[in-house]
Amino acid sequence: MKPTKPIDGKFQLVELPYAPDALEPVISANTLSFHYGKHLQTYVNNLNGLLPGSPLEGFPLEEVVCKSEGGAFNNAGQILNHNLYFTQFAAPRSDNQPVGNLATAINAQFGSFDAFKEEFEKKGTTLFGSGWVWLSSDKDGKLHITQETNAGNPITKGLTPLLTFDVWEHAYYLDYQNRRPAHLSALWQIVNWEEVNNRYE
Ligand code: MN
Repeated sequence: MKPTKPIDGKFQLVELPYAPDALEPVISANTLSFHYGKHLQTYVNNLNGLLPGSPLEGFPLEEVVCKSEGGAFNNAGQILNHNLYFTQFAAPRSDNQPVGNLATAINAQFGSFDAFKEEFEKKGTTLFGSGWVWLSSDKDGKLHITQETNAGNPITKGLTPLLTFDVWEHAYYLDYQNRRPAHLSALWQIVNWEEVNNRYE
């Protein structure tokens, strides 16, 4: 993973690689305006307020996540999680499929893309409360699907995060209300597998 460094001591709001309405109807521009423009911006502001004068001032975001606790961890974790989340999407495609070595690894380990999706969605649906479902890889290239509560990220367990679905209600409530499973199954249309494969390579 490329480290995310603060600029003049401040972490920045990540740039979206698409227009605000590009993910519709899977994620509306309205949801994006709150989720990216308000929730993520608040985590960035909070962390930038917490770090000055602390031992982690000036450290890359990934190191802050691995070495902090309490409020610094919660805000740093949420920034890293959302940076990975928002930069892994592209305009909807009904025939969207994994690519490259990651596609090969998914088929080898889970049997098929459909079987992988089923397990990933199940882990997202059954996560109680707020959190994230993750696909990550270990140092041998083996894939792992895990649940993390609240601001958790598999990077703290030595894994490389590849793909994540946000199951905090703020990620889907405006578009899907309580229907978390419907939201999760729709997200496959907008995964940018080129980007996710690049994280794996
Ligand atoms: Mn979120």
